[in-house]
Amino acid sequence: MLSREEAKQKLGKRIERCSGCYGAFYLRDMWLGPEATYYCEECKTGEMFHFDQFTEKLDLENLPTMQEDEEEKTQCQNPFTHQN
Ligand SMILES: [Zn+2]
Repeated sequence: MLSREEAKQKLGKRIERCSGCYGAFYLRDMWLGPEATYYCEECKTGEMFHFDQFTEKLDLENLPTMQEDEEEKTQCQNPFTHQN
């Protein structure tokens, strides 16, 4: 079981695509928009929550994105995946 801080670190290293400009960013540098879309700093609006904010509010262990590990392990070629 991950601690809250570990879950946050792990989630922050995920790569997500900005729904505005379609660039790829680390989730920790993104803002959560409506309907679970993510936006970069350039595309965010004032209504969105930064990673640091929404991770404070969410139950990280129950996030759907945290339950995709089984798939992720089979794709370890991702250069952004850090094995600590
Ligand atoms: Zn963007």
